[in-house]
Amino acid sequence: MDIVRDLFTRRGLPVASVPFDQVQLRPVDGVTTVLITALPYYFPLREGQNLARFAALPDYHRYFGDQLREIAAELSALYPQNTFLAYTDNSPTDEQKAALRSGLAAKGKNNLCITEKGSFVFLGEILTDLAVSLTAEPPRLNCDACGRCIAACPNGALTEEGFRYERCLAYITQKKGELTEEEAEAIRKNRMAWGCDRCSEVCPHNAGLPAAPIALPPNEILPRLTLQDLEGLSDRKFREIYRDRAFAWRGKATMQRNLMILEEKEHG
Ligand code: SF4
Ligand code: SF4
Repeated sequence: MDIVRDLFTRRGLPVASVPFDQVQLRPVDGVTTVLITALPYYFPLREGQNLARFAALPDYHRYFGDQLREIAAELSALYPQNTFLAYTDNSPTDEQKAALRSGLAAKGKNNLCITEKGSFVFLGEILTDLAVSLTAEPPRLNCDACGRCIAACPNGALTEEGFRYERCLAYITQKKGELTEEEAEAIRKNRMAWGCDRCSEVCPHNAGLPAAPIALPPNEILPRLTLQDLEGLSDRKFREIYRDRAFAWRGKATMQRNLMILEEKEHG
């Protein structure tokens, strides 16, 4: 099945397979296999960046979806009797489970899926009824001798005992409503308005990553937002202007709250 693997690897995408029934969230007629893959999206931090990388990029469904649909079309040409369905979201599979079960990734102490391309990756998959088995050797993690992510976590969300999601800044910055003073202080300390990349940045499996081969014009990356950017925008306008960003679906109020917390301090 090298021919199937090649379609992914020539685009710089790792791939592995897992039986659909081991990872399915809802049934899909005839599907037996998940081809799970990962799109690297790392880029070096920009000056004053206050949005986590995934949120600074335009919606990955667009460019990742295009690649997966192209691969699915090529597979259909090779195997016209079979079905190939590309997903980058709303998938009938548990993507994280598929990545871990297939050997595409291993789970780190930072609670992330770590692949041979690191953990700055978006997961996507092609579901098929083709009898195909693509094995993969997950990266060998040495978390017990490392612990860097636990030490670097700014709010104690990572511990030797496990992940405390309610303390994670990726969760807190995206949570709706009023925050406690403790949560607001955690945002001030971390200086990020949306998300948090600390536990990925310090992980040795992300050391020396090349800027990802996502073909984006540089001005499509939006590293920073300020309260001034939001001034005078209705919620509808905010959603419209930023519709291509991962934070837009939450609406203006959540981002504005976070920026107020950050800028309160800056302005004394
Ligand atoms: S994303 Fe940030 S706050 Fe959440 S676990 Fe990682 S380092 Fe901690
Ligand atoms: S930083 Fe170290 S302990 Fe944390 S996930 Fe990476 S290798 Fe494991």
